[in-house]
Amino acid sequence: MEKEAKFVSSEFLENFRESLKQMSSFSQEMCSYIETGITAPYLTKFAKNCNLLLTAITEWCEANLDFIENIDVLKEEELKKAFNSYCHMESYSETLRALEKAVYQRFPLKNAYHVFFHSVPLELYYPRICAAADKITQILTKIFFENCTFFEMGGEGQIAKEAKIIPMVMFGDSPYYQISTSTLEEKKQKIILFRADIPRCDVYRYRLWPLLAHEIAHVKLNKTVKAELRSPSELYISYPSEGQKLYEKLEGALTLEILNAYKNSDIFSNSYKNKPYQFYSPVAFHIDELLADIASASIFGLPSLFSLICIAGDPSFDLITRNALPTDHPPLSIRINTIKNYLKTLGGQSSYFTEALSDVEYDISSLEKTIYHFSAFEDLINSYNSAIESNFGEIIKFVNDYLISKPEINHPHLWTHYVSLYLNDQTNLNDACSKPIECFIRAWAKRWAVYKRLNDGGHNSFKQFISYHKHETKILGQLINDLNRM
Ligand SMILES: [Zn+2]
Repeated sequence: MEKEAKFVSSEFLENFRESLKQMSSFSQEMCSYIETGITAPYLTKFAKNCNLLLTAITEWCEANLDFIENIDVLKEEELKKAFNSYCHMESYSETLRALEKAVYQRFPLKNAYHVFFHSVPLELYYPRICAAADKITQILTKIFFENCTFFEMGGEGQIAKEAKIIPMVMFGDSPYYQISTSTLEEKKQKIILFRADIPRCDVYRYRLWPLLAHEIAHVKLNKTVKAELRSPSELYISYPSEGQKLYEKLEGALTLEILNAYKNSDIFSNSYKNKPYQFYSPVAFHIDELLADIASASIFGLPSLFSLICIAGDPSFDLITRNALPTDHPPLSIRINTIKNYLKTLGGQSSYFTEALSDVEYDISSLEKTIYHFSAFEDLINSYNSAIESNFGEIIKFVNDYLISKPEINHPHLWTHYVSLYLNDQTNLNDACSKPIECFIRAWAKRWAVYKRLNDGGHNSFKQFISYHKHETKILGQLINDLNRM
């Protein structure tokens, strides 16, 4: 028995050693590749961040190699420790693979570098787009996480940890916008990689990037109020208890009311009559979706609403109907309605802003009637909406007080400003824009102004607005330039 155990241990250690050596030399190779490959100033920050992560990976590998090297007798304790590190290796090597992809997307022209990653458009423009996408993600991360202190559970309770967040965008095969985080140790601090996945088809559909704000809001929720996700290795943010209480209250009230809405609908009686708990937990996620939607709307304003409609509201998808079924996302029409109601509270005197909102209202309801046959779910949607309305004040309070720091710009005002300039031909796209969020508002405002002109101020062509691409390339060029200059 003893012999067998020893054999398994040495084989395991041998494998572990080999993997660590490979990972370490690969990350060092990549570090020097970046150092020799860097040419453009807009990639300097990426190179610095990437090298920091790669150094942390190398250090981790080397420390473990030292440790394994010094094990002469396989004591149970040491083996346990080695096995523990081995379990972490998967996350380190996944981070390494992600970095390889990120590096290749930004330095694609070095043919000396052998890569497995395929089918990224190898255009000169591509690194510039990646750098701009990094930039907007960095700014959003700052809006959500500025002044936050990270903690982890130590021997005697919480310990504050210096943590550096590094956001990095990857355009790839993911059909969704999503953020995944991984935490690495460095000598002085913890490093959290925020890996933002954007579907490759949205490389040039930059106007949809405001969707990243929604995803970063999820990360903030997970690292604060979602206590069940905390584990000793997970960094989280200590949260004011009144924020936690408000969240729990909202989650409790809304989940019950939403569940009731489903209970009273045909959907429930036809499909879920005998298994009500089957969709209890998906419904509990709805509150996060709505909070993330409002957070995104509070940062970007109308562009966040339009992005959502673009990504999820294409009439060729029967999403409103499909999403009326209990899934982990609220029905699309509920999300649109919630954002719209929130934006209405901000509108004030901004005429083009309120006009755009009422156009959306008109067009969406006509789409709902004619394409989605929404009336089949009218009762459900109505009770769902009133569940949200009865908690609306607290939803907004939670977003403003606990989810984001105050939005840095007055987006209703900017919207009206740009739409009126474009409608009166008083500006052209060559004027530089100095604030990142404003760049997106300007781009969507341009699109909106063109749409209003096409329709002579009339209705019914919302789809045309959503799928209008004429100025896309030109606006993209400007947006990328502006972001990379900041
Ligand atoms: Zn979401």
